[in-house]
Amino acid sequence: MTTQTPKRLQFIADELARLRDERLFINIRTMESAADGWMEVDGRRVLNFCTNNYLGLANHPRLRQAARDAIERWGVGPAAVRTIAGTTALHLELEQRLAAFKGVEDALFVQSGFCANQAAIPPLVGKGDVIFSDSLNHASIIDGCRLARAKIIVYEHCNPADAEAKIKEHLPQYRRGLLVTDGVFSMDGDVAPLDKLYEIAERYDVMTMVDDAHGEGVLGHGGRGIVDHFGLHGKFDVEIGTLSKAFGVVGGVIAGKKIIVDYIRQKARPFLFSSATTPADTAACLAAVDLLEESEALVEKLWDNARYLQAGMQELGFDTGSSQTPILPIMLGEVGLTKEFSRRLFENGVFAMGIGFPTVPKGKARIRVMNTAAHSREDLDIGLAAFAKVGRELGVID
Ligand SMILES: *Cc1c(COP(=O)(O)O)cnc(C)c1O
Repeated sequence: MTTQTPKRLQFIADELARLRDERLFINIRTMESAADGWMEVDGRRVLNFCTNNYLGLANHPRLRQAARDAIERWGVGPAAVRTIAGTTALHLELEQRLAAFKGVEDALFVQSGFCANQAAIPPLVGKGDVIFSDSLNHASIIDGCRLARAKIIVYEHCNPADAEAKIKEHLPQYRRGLLVTDGVFSMDGDVAPLDKLYEIAERYDVMTMVDDAHGEGVLGHGGRGIVDHFGLHGKFDVEIGTLSKAFGVVGGVIAGKKIIVDYIRQKARPFLFSSATTPADTAACLAAVDLLEESEALVEKLWDNARYLQAGMQELGFDTGSSQTPILPIMLGEVGLTKEFSRRLFENGVFAMGIGFPTVPKGKARIRVMNTAAHSREDLDIGLAAFAKVGRELGVID
């Protein structure tokens, strides 16, 4: 039964109709098994190229066991915010282990990477301050900046010269400045020029923050992240991270100089006003850190797979954009073609989502292929064969 839309809600009906007309409406698929190399999705078993489960930890036996053990000892929910009664020994252990892993003085564990940006930015800058932000920064950075109510100056994507020009022009009119950038940009897989950005920020005495969500577990020695990749230990003031991508669980981290982490512990609203992560999640994150510290094998497998898949796609004639990481965009251009491509891949047993406006600019729609360490060579060959078949059917390749 559909009811008549009341006049006060008509704007919603109009907007939903517009999204459908412009083929921008998001249809959400249902996962019916654990995130892994292969998954049950909408009633069929498919090769999974969609998740950020870089190292295949989301369904790893060691993490599953750690979560079960934590439930036996700690129960299921913290039932409090961290600052009242939600900080368990598990949370503190994870924070110390993450700080050691990343080579920073201190770390604060929060509910998600999205939360980490909301938590970290507003205490650092406010009215009368200025933020210098890369034009392709993640939505959670943008929202964190908006919450801070500081002036936001956007510099050209990965362009240190433009960042410097903007700092020179605007900084003198404000009390203090913060430069913030994604480490790895999640739609193109390119890497921020962190060394150059650091040099500039240092010269003008601007605070620095990098969001390493797609760098942790991927870049640097044994997946220690983008700061390690550039050898900039101790230089960036704040590193944001997530435990929901390569670490395979959920949660966010604010890492860096002790004075900053201490300060954010006193001020961050998602930390003060939203309950702690569960014992099971926290213990699973700890098991992920254990695995990363024990061996670099999963990180190496991920990169081997990434190189193989990228070479295979290029050999087939696909445009793979400008990625420097395992994120592999297959550039198709039009959103309609991209959606059809993704639909046909699914029919052929491969799950890879099309991404269009507003997540990427108009005319730059693509399929984003995410391999993982849970995929075998044989899996990748199955994926390549499906891309070849659909690519030929749709006239994208010869
Ligand atoms: C995915 C992502 C986040 C959000 O992390 P969650 O833990 O999923 O909330 C934040 N920043 C960047 C750059 C990301 O890519």
